[in-house]
Amino acid sequence: MSFEKFSLNEKIVAGVRALGYQTPTPIQLKAIPPIMKGRDVMGLAQTGTGKTAAFVLPILQRLMQGSRGHVRALIIAPTRELSEQTHEAVRQLGRRTGVRSASIYGGVSIYSQTKRLKDRVEVISACPGRLLDHIGRGTVDLSRVEVLVLDEADHMFDMGFLPDIRKIVKCLPAKRQTLLFSATMPSDVQGLADDVMSDPVHIKIGPAAPVETVSHKFYPVQMNSKTALLKDILETTDMESVLVFTRTKSRAKTVAQQLDRSGYKVTSLHGNLTQQKRQKALDGFRTGHYEIMVATDIAARGIDVTKISHVINYDMPDTTDAYTHRIGRTGRASQTGDAFTFVTGQDVGIAHSLKRVLGEKLEYRNVDGLTMAMLAETSPSSGSSRSNGRRSFAPRAKSFGNFNGRPGKSASRRSWSH
Ligand code: AMP
Repeated sequence: MSFEKFSLNEKIVAGVRALGYQTPTPIQLKAIPPIMKGRDVMGLAQTGTGKTAAFVLPILQRLMQGSRGHVRALIIAPTRELSEQTHEAVRQLGRRTGVRSASIYGGVSIYSQTKRLKDRVEVISACPGRLLDHIGRGTVDLSRVEVLVLDEADHMFDMGFLPDIRKIVKCLPAKRQTLLFSATMPSDVQGLADDVMSDPVHIKIGPAAPVETVSHKFYPVQMNSKTALLKDILETTDMESVLVFTRTKSRAKTVAQQLDRSGYKVTSLHGNLTQQKRQKALDGFRTGHYEIMVATDIAARGIDVTKISHVINYDMPDTTDAYTHRIGRTGRASQTGDAFTFVTGQDVGIAHSLKRVLGEKLEYRNVDGLTMAMLAETSPSSGSSRSNGRRSFAPRAKSFGNFNGRPGKSASRRSWSH
């Protein structure tokens, strides 16, 4: 089935073509028809499924009819990056429609946003806090909003935004279309959905499990060997662009500095950076100027860089959900990707949970001298050196790159910036 079947305005189809989308993704197939009919929709979908276009396309279709030049669609997202990306999707998909879009989030000047809001904007992609600021100052008029989208609702809940969202919803007309997307459905999000939606169509795209197109590899390792292991992987694996996750902001900075000193083109993305620096890091990574980005969870939430070939969890995420979200950064929209996760002794609990979710798709890898003999009983492919669960290093037989099933350094090394 092609996009033509949705009977979208041809100016919108032109935007779809310009982005190179050939066929709709499953969530687009399921969500676009009811959204176009004006129904409320609750979409349980993981990231990377094409959910943004699933709501942006029907919104554009709606906006091309009726009065123009005032705010008619409001999309609320948990992070600045996601809000910027959604704004960008509206701009790209709507490039021929003349629809005017703005993104609204904190950390940047409120005055330039105020100016933009006066400029006949029709779609707003916003983070809750700054939007409430604008509402308080009377610099945004939401009285004629026809569609409200709550994107990544579970993250908004995690980040404590649900009270803000309820305040925002009070400023909107009661008669509107509401769309809510979430990778998981905690009871608080369900409660919000019950309050703000009316007779929604429920759409579920697969279980909230890591995307199918990604292969998952665990590397048991000791904390102090992680950077050496990371460099080893970077040196011996064929990679296009790599997103490395750390647990803390300071570690994101340190790891990026360590890689930079080793000659890699690397940037970092974390909450201690100004919005301008965050955007610069993201743009540099997106254009390929930086091959590696080291980021924390919050900073990287929802970022859409099309060609991330590898996600490396330098630090194990705290939950299986967080893993799903990190891994959703690669293998997007049916591209393939690899996810490497460093597992220390402290991560055994979460490693077990992930093993249950990933099942057969999970492989354990051992790099001689760097990964350690642990978690052996959880490893389907563990060799004798790992079978006793001891946390000792395996003997270093050879130089780097001699891990299971992977060609060594000489075969697969890619000449990056060294
Ligand atoms: P999302 O889940 O909305 O973040 O989308 C993930 C990625 O898939 C983005 O890079 C989109 O541009 C891309 N995408 C969305 N829909 C399609 C489609 N029908 N065909 C190919 N790529 C798509």
